[in-house]
Amino acid sequence: MSFLRRSTYSRSRAPSTRQTVAVQHYDLIIIGAGSGNSIIGPEMDHWRIAMVERGLFGGTCMNRGCIPSKMFIYAADLAVQATETARYGVHTEFHDADWPAIVQRVFGRIDPIEAGGRSYRQSLPNVDVYEHSAHFVGPHELEVMGEHITGDRIVIAAGARPFVPEIPGLDDVPFHTSDTIMRIARRPQHLIVLGGGFIATELGHVFRSFGSEVTVVNRGHRLLQAEDIDISHRFTELAAERFDLALGARIDRVRMTPKGVAVELTCDGGGPRTIEGDVLLVAAGRIPNSDQLRVEAAGIATDDRGNVLVDDFGRTNVEGIWALGDINGRHQLKHMANGEAKAVRHNLFHPHDLRAYDDRPAPHAVFTHPQVGAIGVTEQEAIASGAPVCIITHQYGDAAYGWAMEDTSSFCKLIGDPVTRRVIGAHIIGYQASLMVQLLVQGMHLGNTADEMAHGQVWIHPTLAEVVEQALLKLIDAFDSSSAAPAV
Ligand SMILES: Cc1cc2nc3c(=O)[nH]c(=O)nc-3n(C[C@H](O)[C@H](O)[C@H](O)COP(=O)(O)OP(=O)(O)OC[C@H]3O[C@@H](n4cnc5c(N)ncnc54)[C@H](O)[C@@H]3O)c2cc1C
Repeated sequence: MSFLRRSTYSRSRAPSTRQTVAVQHYDLIIIGAGSGNSIIGPEMDHWRIAMVERGLFGGTCMNRGCIPSKMFIYAADLAVQATETARYGVHTEFHDADWPAIVQRVFGRIDPIEAGGRSYRQSLPNVDVYEHSAHFVGPHELEVMGEHITGDRIVIAAGARPFVPEIPGLDDVPFHTSDTIMRIARRPQHLIVLGGGFIATELGHVFRSFGSEVTVVNRGHRLLQAEDIDISHRFTELAAERFDLALGARIDRVRMTPKGVAVELTCDGGGPRTIEGDVLLVAAGRIPNSDQLRVEAAGIATDDRGNVLVDDFGRTNVEGIWALGDINGRHQLKHMANGEAKAVRHNLFHPHDLRAYDDRPAPHAVFTHPQVGAIGVTEQEAIASGAPVCIITHQYGDAAYGWAMEDTSSFCKLIGDPVTRRVIGAHIIGYQASLMVQLLVQGMHLGNTADEMAHGQVWIHPTLAEVVEQALLKLIDAFDSSSAAPAV
């Protein structure tokens, strides 16, 4: 059996018929069964649909992204907690991590979901599943495994893939990306991570927590550089206590050694350095899959990074072709891709009542140790905009629960507009920052002022949420004394 499996053939067509069918036509073609998989609904039962997926159903998030990484991170957090209890008079220690058992727990739960999703789609009478890579050959025409398919409507949901930079010698050494490292057979003794963003720091956290030595090599001088500057600084300081950091690094060469790999580099202001480890992880960002999809053959416009350009409603410049999720470069976040899939699903049926993609600030979290949660503008962006802003920082340790925890490194930073009295940026680093920031996402997305957010509800005492309440009160004080605030 070839990679091509189409549910209708298995039921109604003899294989020999396939040779004579030059082009299959569909009402809807979806490329990518990540967020694209949720486009199909019962309202489309009368449509003939092609679902094209070259890899795993559920896409990146489910199979090699958010979900498995957070399953590893949950276990990693437990391992770290076990080493941080002594100051509370509790004596626990981290003994060991059974890596094969951890991998088995993660993928033993995920893989059956992937298989179930695939066979469900194959079982639908109106859906043909093409299990291979597709590329455009014309405006509404794709080639999949030598066959041509056309569609009245096409949804491009083909995502992004790890970016592998040009580094001398990299082609000649074995290395992993986030696509492969979560399934390795043995935990590394010494992991070298190239990159300093959220994937590099999350996976570095996993392996460090389970006992690997971890060196993080980053071109920039700080980790998580896309975050607010204070968050990035604080995270880098804390990361230096756990990881060996090579920052401001220029990699001269990568080569194989009897132990594994060696990375030869020069750090700004320092001399040459060679780092040797047994496993190399390249986590240097992600690039859209539009090149492999040859979108130019359909006349679909992209920006200079290959992101498929879309308007507010997800339409590309070619009539009837939509793009959602990572491939359009608006965000690289699953919750935003899901929202876009919902909008496209609506828009396919309501051409005269189109639903726009969410253009409110996109919240995100980084599940490292400690966590980071953020939404809206950073201090760098606020200053660059030139608009008047108030910026305050409130420490976890200044609220009762943070004090009880004896926290000395976590904080909530708020950036507010003194004219509208709204929060325009919120950045939290510390325990459960991913949850804490949601308190601010709610108020910001509902259009509340800082006053409404702080005074419009009762805050449970003594929760960590009081850090957010007190930060809002501080921001309100800053508004009140700001010269940019409108006269009352
Ligand atoms: C390690 C890691 C951790 C992450 N953690 C988080 C997190 O905590 N929170 C968060 O919000 N986001 C996270 N993300 C990002 C998140 O996974 C993505 O934003 C999301 O999965 C994008 O969904 P998508 O539908 O656009 O693309 P995908 O889920 O990548 O789906 C695209 C699908 O298209 C298929 N495809 C591509 N090209 C072709 C082709 N030519 N022919 C046929 N099929 C094709 C692919 O096989 C893939 O299945 C993480 C990503 C990684 C890598």
